[in-house]
Amino acid sequence: MIGDMQKWTPNIAGIIEHAKKIHPKSEIISKLTNGEIHRTNYDEVCLRSRKLASKLCQDGYKEGDVLATLALNTFRHLEIYYGVSGMGGIVHTLNFRLHPDQAKYIINHAEDKIIFLEVPFVPILEALKDDISSVEKFILLCDKDEIPETSLKNVYSYEEYIEDGKEDFDWPSLKDDAACGLCYTSGTTGNPKGVLYSHKSTILHAASAITAMSIDQDDSILMVVPMFHVMAWGIPYYGPMLGNKIVMPGMHMDGESLYTLINEEEVTMAAGVPTIWMQLLAYCRENSKKLTALKNTIIGGSALSLAILKEFDEFHDVNVVHAWGMTEMSPLGTTNVPTREMESMTKEDKYNLQLKQGRPCFGVELKITNDKGDALPNDGKSYGHLLVRGPWILQKYFKSDENAVDNNGWFDTGDISTIDSDGYMTIVDRSKDVIKSGGEWISSIDLENAAVGHEHIAEACVVGVRHPKWDERPILLVVANEKNVSKDEINKFLSDKVAKWWLPDDIIFVDELPHGATGKLLKVELRDKYSDHLMEK
Ligand code: AMP
Repeated sequence: MIGDMQKWTPNIAGIIEHAKKIHPKSEIISKLTNGEIHRTNYDEVCLRSRKLASKLCQDGYKEGDVLATLALNTFRHLEIYYGVSGMGGIVHTLNFRLHPDQAKYIINHAEDKIIFLEVPFVPILEALKDDISSVEKFILLCDKDEIPETSLKNVYSYEEYIEDGKEDFDWPSLKDDAACGLCYTSGTTGNPKGVLYSHKSTILHAASAITAMSIDQDDSILMVVPMFHVMAWGIPYYGPMLGNKIVMPGMHMDGESLYTLINEEEVTMAAGVPTIWMQLLAYCRENSKKLTALKNTIIGGSALSLAILKEFDEFHDVNVVHAWGMTEMSPLGTTNVPTREMESMTKEDKYNLQLKQGRPCFGVELKITNDKGDALPNDGKSYGHLLVRGPWILQKYFKSDENAVDNNGWFDTGDISTIDSDGYMTIVDRSKDVIKSGGEWISSIDLENAAVGHEHIAEACVVGVRHPKWDERPILLVVANEKNVSKDEINKFLSDKVAKWWLPDDIIFVDELPHGATGKLLKVELRDKYSDHLMEK
């Protein structure tokens, strides 16, 4: 028997309409490229999203058209999220740190018809313009008088473009499961793959994220995670659902700028990857500043280290919510929020628990399997391939004919993990990064986290390289913040933190480590570079 409730074919524009009606004056703060602070609110963002949607329709754009952004976190990008998806288009967020070949591949694969871009990114597209023939218009996120000299054709300013759009635009009803957003995986090997989100999956994801992240209606959220990184982890959707004030740093991501925004805008919650927080914490440490307003920070994208967790807790009294997910999952899979049980734990036990990637939010199922596909016990010790299933997890990649999941709907994340009896999942490693030494596995993440606990190590990266006896052994690359730190000292420091056979076969000091477009360490590059390092010894 079918239920008697109303049929639901949602349009995410309903979120910004809700925010306009219920939280019209909640602020949206953006730090612009010129350093100015721009202030608007949900009322205005909604009206301007309607104008953009109406103008796109007047121009002949229709449901299913892919319209891209090459943009920073600012109010205009938020308006595009709603204006494009709300009229039935698909907002495709491009990462401005991509290699030009990858950007070209992605734009062509997605068949982007418009690119909305920031003025400083004009040269990126000028270099690609002859190879991206699907693009009909370039809309610069600025006023008419701010358009620079450019060799791009069909250039408009965003403000000029939306000028004659209609503020009373009616959002259309969309088809069931209509698409609203498109992101490509970071793709460290092979071509990036597209993940096409739907209005329904996006709304369900946002609603579940609210329950899984201890967010309060009064929270002022600093959205450091870029809007091109898996739809900024859902904040542009769940923020307006709750009516949160949203603070966006634009391109000002250094420690001092973030500290100033947090203080001046009374930010209570912030979300971003570990490397960003390392810069913020270093700035505060070096300048004796305290993050007084901040209460919670969501850290994901890469593993959280004890050093970051401790410094937030002990010096700033900020709670860290460790979260895990991926592009294919919209992205949220698990979160680690404070529980009553944690209150009675020793600090050490509490930190050990908080370093786990957390428990699945409602809607996401997890399981771990061995190489043969047999399920492994949730005993906190057995580790294997992490598989996921749920309504905001992909079924197949964009434009692929094949399912990306098995017959029972399970998607293999490519991560290796444990799950304990309380449901806490811990990422041991990416399956391609785990070091297979004589048939046993060494977690590069655990070794890195142990290394960054040393006061003179700013960043660490462990990769497995060829070894004549053990097939593969770990080497540790470190960025030291003190010249005199020695290999022996680091080895001694690590020796009571990891098993003896895990200790790296060599430690190499480097000035910096390579990062990919979303802030993750580029281990492929380092593995190639040092592949024969231990063979030559
Ligand atoms: P992306 O699709 O670019 O967001 O990358 C997803 C991958 O990042 C996951 O499959 C993990 O390998 C890694 N990742 C994300 N969050 C975490 C975390 N909290 N700890 C460890 N790895 C993470």
